[in-house]
Amino acid sequence: MQLDSLLEKLKMDHLSSRLDSVCEQASKRDLDYKGFLAEALSAEWSGRHGKGVEMRLSQAHFPVVKTLGQFDFGFQPSLDKKVLRELSGMGFVERSENVIFLGPPGVGKSHLAIALGVKAVEAGYRVLFLTLEELLTRLMRAQSENRLERMLQQLVYPRLLILDEIGYLPMSREEASLFFRLLCRRYEKASLVLTSNKSFLDWGDIFGDQVLATAILDRLLHHATTVNIKGESYRLKEKRRAGLLESRTVPPEEQEPLEVPT
Ligand code: ADP
Ligand code: MG
Repeated sequence: MQLDSLLEKLKMDHLSSRLDSVCEQASKRDLDYKGFLAEALSAEWSGRHGKGVEMRLSQAHFPVVKTLGQFDFGFQPSLDKKVLRELSGMGFVERSENVIFLGPPGVGKSHLAIALGVKAVEAGYRVLFLTLEELLTRLMRAQSENRLERMLQQLVYPRLLILDEIGYLPMSREEASLFFRLLCRRYEKASLVLTSNKSFLDWGDIFGDQVLATAILDRLLHHATTVNIKGESYRLKEKRRAGLLESRTVPPEEQEPLEVPT
C-alpha cells in the first residue's frame, strides 16, 4: 500500500502534512530506523495534542485566558507561591479535590482560577468555567423545563468545574438546594475551583440558610485547599497608576469611574 493512503487510513493527518519536513530532519540528523519512527510518531502526537488543547480550551468557555506566568506574585505577598506551584501540578484534579480562592475584589481570584483551568486543559482534562450566576440560571431553567437530571449530568462531566464569584448575589432557597445537589453529584468524583469574596463565616448569608451552608461547606472542604488572598486590588493599583498619569491632563468629570467589584 502507498504511504499516502496508509497515513490516510490510519488518520495520521498531522504526520501526513509534516511528512516532508520530518523526513528531511531525519536525514539531516542521520537518524536510525527507531529514531525516525519516534520523530514521525511525535509529529502526529504533538499535532493531536495541540488540537485537543485547542478544543478543550474553547469548550471551557473561559471569559479570558490567563496564565500563572502572567501573575505577579510580588504584588501579593500573602500568597504562597509554593501552594500555587503544587496546585498547578494537577494532583488535586487527579484526586478530585477542590480549591477555593477567597479574598476581596481585584486580588486575582478569577485570574488564578482560570490559570489552573488552563493548566488542566493542557494536562488533558475537560474544564468548564461558569460564574455562579450562570450556573444557577442553567439549573433553574433546567428545573422549570423538566430536564434537571440531564443538566446535572452535563455539569458532572467536566473533571474541573470552575465556579466564579460566589457571594456577590444571595441565593434563593431553591437555588441553594440545586447548588447542593450539584455538589453532592460531583463530591469525590470531580474537582471544583471556587472563588468568593466572602469568608466561610458569611456563607450562611449567601445560601440563605445556615444548615444548608454547613452541609455545603462540609462537602466542599472535606478534600480542599483554601487559598486566602489578603492583599490589595490589582485593578485599583492600575487605576491609581493611571490616575497619577492622567491627573494633570484629564479633567475629573472625564475620568473613568472606579470599577464596581466584579
Ligand atoms: P478578582 O477575581 O479577585 O476580583 P481578578 O482575577 O479578576 O480579581 O483580577 C483583576 C485583574 O487584575 C485581572 O485582569 C487580573 O488578570 C489582574 N491581576 C490581579 N492580580 C494580579 C497579579 N498579582 N498579577 C498580574 N495580574 C493580576
Ligand atoms: Mg473575579
